[in-house]
Amino acid sequence: MAAKNIVILGSTGSIGISTLKVIERYPARFRVFALSAYNNVQLLEKQIHTFRPRYAVVSDRGMEYFRGRSLNGTKLLHVDHDLEDIVARRSVSHVVIGMRGSAALGPFLSAVNNGKTVAPANKEALVIAGELIMRQARRHNAVIVPVDSEQSAIFQCLQGQNRPELKKIYLTASGGTLRTVARQRFDKLSVAEILNHPRWKMGKKITVDSATLMNKGFEIIEALRLFDLTVEQVEVVIHPEAIIHSMVEYVDGSIIAQLGVTDMRIPIQYALTYPQRLDAGLKPLNFARLKSLNFEKPDYRKFPALSLAVAVARQGGTLPSVLNAADEEAVEAFLNKQIKLTDIYRSVEKVVARHRVRAKPNLNQILEADVWAREETRKVISEL
Ligand code: MG
Repeated sequence: MAAKNIVILGSTGSIGISTLKVIERYPARFRVFALSAYNNVQLLEKQIHTFRPRYAVVSDRGMEYFRGRSLNGTKLLHVDHDLEDIVARRSVSHVVIGMRGSAALGPFLSAVNNGKTVAPANKEALVIAGELIMRQARRHNAVIVPVDSEQSAIFQCLQGQNRPELKKIYLTASGGTLRTVARQRFDKLSVAEILNHPRWKMGKKITVDSATLMNKGFEIIEALRLFDLTVEQVEVVIHPEAIIHSMVEYVDGSIIAQLGVTDMRIPIQYALTYPQRLDAGLKPLNFARLKSLNFEKPDYRKFPALSLAVAVARQGGTLPSVLNAADEEAVEAFLNKQIKLTDIYRSVEKVVARHRVRAKPNLNQILEADVWAREETRKVISEL
């Protein structure tokens, strides 16, 4: 069996690092074809020396850093113009999208248009252009095996079943850092306290989104696109232990769940080996020690981002692009201590309400909505 050639976009982020751990365990099965990274050039350099990819795709900063340094034959390319080309190369089989932001959309579409297996951990692309991506994937026989733990769980629970017999899905949410905090106290917490997530270690943006439950809102939109569901078929369940990663209910009342330790190597490895499975070398779940799993209804009044995302998903068109861009700008302002935590929702909601939605947008219209929303959010924030 020939080794699979893997491209990892965002190799120095948490998804990229976990992907390389999976690859390291099975050197005969996987080969790193290309790595891309924006800022962490020192770590990228180590990765290049360990995994010897054919290409490293870097920003200006990387170009400067690597000038005159030995790369053992790894060729340097630039993130601004080479990502779409590199994922489309004939010998590439899998593309792991660990980079965040809407910048992933171009390479995602390119991978799909070239019939690759895509393993997205990135949410933005599926949120803002999910319909387009899924349409192109069908057209070009591309396979999308999601890496986000909830979407991976649903994907796994759908295997071997008859799709028309699906009734609904339960998207589980650990509840984030604010689950047990009263809403009146939200703005009294420091940025550092918000960033201290009890279950998952992730980037700053997604940790804030987990606290406001906007992340779950994005996952609703993502699930609707990935699995072609209606808003009514998606129910969010708070499950603080984060052991059940999501569930699917069928028409006969049977519910199939995917459980496991909270380690991203499981969904990443599954995306690389699908439809097979391999030993991941992780500690098994200890049910006797767990004793109980807890569930609650999400508090929609305390976390209005969730209802907003549902309303946005229902409208579709360019609105998810606006939601995503406005949230990104507002979270950035929060992390820079320009606004309070509850101002994130306040500004995002205003921008969403002001947008004139375009139905069935093309890629340009989606990106135009993104630009508009960012400007509008900055305006709203300056008027707060
Ligand atoms: Mg998730």
